Amino acid sequence: MFSFNPPSVSIGVKQITLDHAGDCAFVSHAHSDHALVARAPSIIASRETVDLMHARGYKVASDVQHGHYNAKLLNAGHVLGARQFYAETDEGTFAYTGDFRMSDSFCVKGADVPQCDTLFMEATFGSPEFVFPSRAETAEEISKWVLAEREKGIVVLGGYSLGKAQELIKILNDYTGITPVVEDTIARVNEVYRKYGVNLDYLLASSDEGLRELDKNFVAVVPMNKVNNNFAFQLSRAYSRRVASAVATGWAATERFANAKAFCLSDHSDYPELLQFVERSGAKKIVTHYGHAQRLARDLRAKGLNARALEDRQKLLIAWED
Ligand SMILES: [Zn+2]
Repeated sequence: MFSFNPPSVSIGVKQITLDHAGDCAFVSHAHSDHALVARAPSIIASRETVDLMHARGYKVASDVQHGHYNAKLLNAGHVLGARQFYAETDEGTFAYTGDFRMSDSFCVKGADVPQCDTLFMEATFGSPEFVFPSRAETAEEISKWVLAEREKGIVVLGGYSLGKAQELIKILNDYTGITPVVEDTIARVNEVYRKYGVNLDYLLASSDEGLRELDKNFVAVVPMNKVNNNFAFQLSRAYSRRVASAVATGWAATERFANAKAFCLSDHSDYPELLQFVERSGAKKIVTHYGHAQRLARDLRAKGLNARALEDRQKLLIAWED
């Protein structure tokens, strides 16, 4: 059986909490809001997620399993190692998604669609205004902008340290031939991506090669929260050069960012993809959580589906996910 408070599924005598604290917790991926759950006595997570949590300095349970005898971990797209939890219970088949993206990114394959009776899914961008451009289109746009701005000075690209930073590096490598400089927090994540076969060319800013690169008009990939006027001002003063800043985020679909150009690049599904995901799953009952959960549930009900929202935790998600 499954329960939504806390989100959990019981298999035999064991209760497995889903991205929530408990004796045995499923950790869907290594973003901060989920990885904090990994301090549970026992966790279920993919190998990649465990490596990423170690690389990012999280406390990880001593008892780690990469699967469960009566459940399946399905690919969730989103970031390296992200998984969905699928189980057969006495109330029918059940699937849980933490964050997911159905289509491929430049670094990871898109999410599998679970065939299930009950679907408990994230709804970060579950409102019709969120329709993302194609990834190739955004990559072209980023590349053109970076090449033009690098002629004039330093270029700073900001994104979440896990997932977006690696995809920005991949886009720079593949579309422009540029090897960006990064700081240690991003480099540690890059190494895990490399371990699992995602080739990323980058320079650690503190390395000899990195320091030589900083003498030129360099391109830096930095954590999202570093993209602000103060950082740009400090960089400009330190290197006596012009600085152009941009961020890559799904929120660029609807929002403007005061201190930087914003490119629409998301590790989540947009609204049309969320609807497709539900349709392909064949789920008879849908429970939405995160972000625009209420709106998505309402729109699914309008299509005649049995859907409800668990709660709106958008603010929590934005606050934690880095
Ligand atoms: Zn995430």
